[in-house]
Amino acid sequence: DSMLYNDQLVKRDRIIDIEDRGYQFGDGVYEVIGVYDGQPFLLDDHMHRLQRSAREIRLTLPFEVNSLKTNLQKLIEANGLNEGVIYLQVSRGVAPRLHDFPGGKTQAVTIAYTLEEERKTKLEDNGGTAMLTEDIRWLRCDIKTLNLLPNVLAKQEAVENGAVEAILHRGDTVTEASASNVFIVKNGELYTHPANNYILNGITRQTIIQLCGELGLNVHEEAFTVETLLKADEVFISATKMDIAPIVEVDGRTIGKGKPGSVTRQLVKSFRALYDKKKA
Ligand code: PLP
Repeated sequence: DSMLYNDQLVKRDRIIDIEDRGYQFGDGVYEVIGVYDGQPFLLDDHMHRLQRSAREIRLTLPFEVNSLKTNLQKLIEANGLNEGVIYLQVSRGVAPRLHDFPGGKTQAVTIAYTLEEERKTKLEDNGGTAMLTEDIRWLRCDIKTLNLLPNVLAKQEAVENGAVEAILHRGDTVTEASASNVFIVKNGELYTHPANNYILNGITRQTIIQLCGELGLNVHEEAFTVETLLKADEVFISATKMDIAPIVEVDGRTIGKGKPGSVTRQLVKSFRALYDKKKA
């Protein structure tokens, strides 16, 4: 396989420097971009979010977005990727290990590679279980940074409990999940945490909100409690490539009728239809 290293396609066994600040400090930003039929999905949205994340951590992107887009397209072609994801990260570069930003000539380091991934149809069709865990992250969850240790610990705890995802709450308030956003449905209307500093504003989340507009479904971008989540008619999570996954049980409590609800199923279907209409 090939990978993108700065603006070059190179062999994937390229060695990354041990003083890369991404490696030592998690000092960088990233994106995971879905690929369907060899085409990056919602690429411009991912590029905008990457630019915003970089700005928020005061990292100067070392490329023009248009040339990065061209290079990502070349990467997909070089690897013959049909369905999967591109992982893209930009770190603040290689410099002697000091916490403050390296000076002058240090350039940010960009890497990207591809992963094949099939659609999770079983999860889409049957739904999965989730567990609840306290959200212990910092207060800038809106930035897609490499610092994912709280997310990693939460997800591991979920997996050890046989759950597909860890739903996070700050005190009583549900924020999002370890690697996805959370929606609930009550009386035919949707609720999801507002896009502020407590959550990552998922591209999938934004797409679902748009889709709901087209389908005439009401979405409230409002925080809700754990209790409200447990009493919801339907719960689902959303993320790149997984798209929409119904959650039918949370912490051993059955949600709704214990199977994917009608609103969730309608959204899964409408979301699938987007790939054909709206590639890149
Ligand atoms: N929230 C968190 C914490 C994430 O890591 C992710 C990434 O997948 C999401 C939400 C969903 O974002 P997106 O739909 O852009 O993949």
